[in-house]
Amino acid sequence: MSRVAVIGAGYVGLTTAACLADLGNDVIVVDINREKINQLLHNHVPFFEPGLSELVERNTKAGRLNFTTSYDEAVPGAEYAIIAVSTPEGEGGEADLSFVEAAAGSIADAMDGPLVVVNKSTVPPLTGDMVSKVLRSRNQKHSAEVVSNPEFLREGSAIQDFMHPDRVVIGSHDRAAADKVAKLYEPLDAPILITPNIYTAEMVKYASNAFLAARISFINEIARISERVGADAKLVAEGMGMDKRIGPSYLDVGLGYGGSCFPKDVKALSALAERFDYHPELLHAVMDINRDQRMLVIDKLRECLEGLNDRIVGLLGLAFKPNTDDLREAPSIDIARVLLAAGAHVRAYDPAAMDGARVKLPEVEYTRDSYDLADGADALVVVTEWNEFRRLDLGRVKASMRRPVIVDGRNIYDPQVMRGLGFTYRGIGRD
Ligand code: NAD
Repeated sequence: MSRVAVIGAGYVGLTTAACLADLGNDVIVVDINREKINQLLHNHVPFFEPGLSELVERNTKAGRLNFTTSYDEAVPGAEYAIIAVSTPEGEGGEADLSFVEAAAGSIADAMDGPLVVVNKSTVPPLTGDMVSKVLRSRNQKHSAEVVSNPEFLREGSAIQDFMHPDRVVIGSHDRAAADKVAKLYEPLDAPILITPNIYTAEMVKYASNAFLAARISFINEIARISERVGADAKLVAEGMGMDKRIGPSYLDVGLGYGGSCFPKDVKALSALAERFDYHPELLHAVMDINRDQRMLVIDKLRECLEGLNDRIVGLLGLAFKPNTDDLREAPSIDIARVLLAAGAHVRAYDPAAMDGARVKLPEVEYTRDSYDLADGADALVVVTEWNEFRRLDLGRVKASMRRPVIVDGRNIYDPQVMRGLGFTYRGIGRD
């Protein structure tokens, strides 16, 4: 059992902390957001992630998981300090490392002995060196080794992903420190790749996210071509995915990628490349295709409704993907704003993301459920593929709409079935 301080109580930090506590470690989470820590101290997880509340409660009750706003409470006595703070998009698309830098400074000030500082935040190569420098300059008494250990969990299945990772990647200039971090993961029985320099581990994360984003933009480009030649891109993707060399994941034709990671990480990798005098053409294409993809539903709506002014449009889903309340870089935000600017009346329903959406999009009307959303609407747009939308009573939906138009941004419905029910139906890449 090890004593671990986790810095940051967000999706990654809290999941990491709860899982490491569940594996028997003594974990304390420090966050500068007092409100968040207060909620956690009162047994409330401040965001939606399936299974996390139960895991946090179980480990808090067992005394293995604690929360604080004080580094002086969290860091002294810890063997590891795991940094899991935000790395949002900064100037010119580069990663904003100010939170990581601040966390490193606070760790240095609170350290009272040797420490392994693990960077789990997604950061560009060379960040580990910056963290080492901050630690050394702020605390000359005690030494800290820095290790990169990027996180690959996905929101919506964070606990499962943490506990059963495809691989654990660890990189450090100091092999002993890397081995010490590997010990934390021993109970998971996952393949562990230790890279002998820290930059490689940092790069694995950016390269992985950029590659997955590229798959999505690739299939969306195929979708645009498919639409023009009469092919069904959903089936094209299925056929491609059956090839073992390709595989089926991240080939979903739709509105493109969103969320807190892919958009900022592809941008940051591209900005990093430019800083080192390399123009990453493929990454630029990935981003351009993704930017335009979410606007396809607007073109389809405009065509089906003969204009958008005064039309009542209902958005089925707001979160950037199902099983999360995360709205960061969600296509719904851009789509709602363009519709509002074109004079449409926009309604929305999402099973988890409405509270956050009310703040970001106050002009939108929020409904109690999908049926209220459909009542009197001119069109519905599937923005997020929540399972409950697949199970709607579509006859009831159609009967209550002013015009039975559905633009299915995630291809969750069967075009033939929808047309059979009397809908004017448009999917993506399969008209
Ligand atoms: P988040 O915004 O949900 O949480 C970050 C937390 O860090 C916040 O609670 C914030 O208050 C806290 N924080 C900021 N500065 C701090 C400081 N100096 N000291 C203590 N706490 C501080 O972010 P997240 O989604 O958990 O992402 C964290 C990192 O992990 C990012 O680099 C992200 O790219 C990466 N990542 C995220 C995911 C994901 O699915 N969300 C997956 C893999 C990697």
